[in-house]
Amino acid sequence: MKFKYVVVGAGLAGITVAERIATQLNEEVLVIEKRNHIAGNVYDEYNDDGILVQMYGPHTFHTNDKEVFDYLCQYCKWHEYQHRVLSYVNGNFVPMPISLETINQLYNLNLSEFEMDDFIESRKVKIEEIKTSEDVVLSQGGQDIYEKFFKYFTIKQWGVDPSELDKSVISRIPFRKNRDTRYFTDQYQGNPYGGFTKMCKNMLNHQKIKLMLNTDYKEVIDDIEYEKMIYTGPIDYYFDYKLGKLKYRSIKFIFETYDCESYQPVASTRWPMDYDYTRITEFKKMTGQKHDKTTILKEIPCDGEEPFYTFPTAEWKDLAQQYRDLASKEKNVIFLGRLAEYKYYDMDDVIRRALDIFEEIKV
Ligand code: FAD
Repeated sequence: MKFKYVVVGAGLAGITVAERIATQLNEEVLVIEKRNHIAGNVYDEYNDDGILVQMYGPHTFHTNDKEVFDYLCQYCKWHEYQHRVLSYVNGNFVPMPISLETINQLYNLNLSEFEMDDFIESRKVKIEEIKTSEDVVLSQGGQDIYEKFFKYFTIKQWGVDPSELDKSVISRIPFRKNRDTRYFTDQYQGNPYGGFTKMCKNMLNHQKIKLMLNTDYKEVIDDIEYEKMIYTGPIDYYFDYKLGKLKYRSIKFIFETYDCESYQPVASTRWPMDYDYTRITEFKKMTGQKHDKTTILKEIPCDGEEPFYTFPTAEWKDLAQQYRDLASKEKNVIFLGRLAEYKYYDMDDVIRRALDIFEEIKV
């Protein structure tokens, strides 16, 4: 088989580059995907009850990058939606991220925007040298906020106490001094009508794009002649783990369907204390779907085989850098995306990166 371009991975990164190659260069491109579906981690499908669910965790699109937004508009229409998150603290839901509303509801106060500064100031713990994530939160929000919102949540999320995590993991805690309770403040926010998989399918719908599902690229790559590979799989796997295996945090997903229209007040709730799970997502509230029943997803972070979050400590960053140094010496292979760069990217960031990479390869 002969292709000028081979893309490994049919997630957003790979699909965007493949779409650009086909539509802008009119060149044939082969996309190889090891799973039995496209869309990578933004894959969604209708479950047995007919509710659209995201199989690898909840995703909401948000960006200030107009070019990325316009690019996707070619392939989907949007259900415009403002993501809102509530945190379950002391038996009540309060808005996240922490805003004036959160402080007023949590402490039963009626502070104005001007009084918020003084309140936070009076709570802060003085720490001479800020080294850990615990120091960051204590020095910015004080003990009570640290324990109620961050300490146990971080332990669940990463399996590590914040006092053992570098300060860069929580470099700043966002305090909104106003009453804005939206989770994101980006200009463009929403989810594609019919889901992300439908959008990805539209992006791949070009006669120059050939798709090979259920195939690990290593099984076939020796039989393919190509000029350039865009690799979006795990960087350590590409190099046969020769420097060791990179660490990821995984997630156990528990889907539950209820015979009622609504399960919780907003699409996403955070559970920083007491429970094993960190988040509960109610999909219909994100997608705008109307249905008599509702499906929720509970997320329990764990150590597992499926890689979700890159591990935010110096040890793994150093190892990833060593792999990146190896990658930079590879001829004709471009490493792109969250797995190939060992970097957390939001969807808009990974599409922006893919569009930029395309500009580099097209010349
Ligand atoms: P992926 O989607 O992982 O695609 C890589 C593809 O490569 C996969 O399909 C994989 O199967 C394939 N592959 C791997 N190895 C091989 C191989 N050997 N051979 C062939 N194929 C291979 N972003 C937002 O903007 N908003 C959100 O709300 C949001 N929520 C998130 C929630 C969770 C739980 C997580 C983990 C991430 C979230 N993100 C969110 C980030 C978003 O998921 C990523 O930006 C996006 O998935 C990155 O796309 P990608 O193509 O780099 O990686």
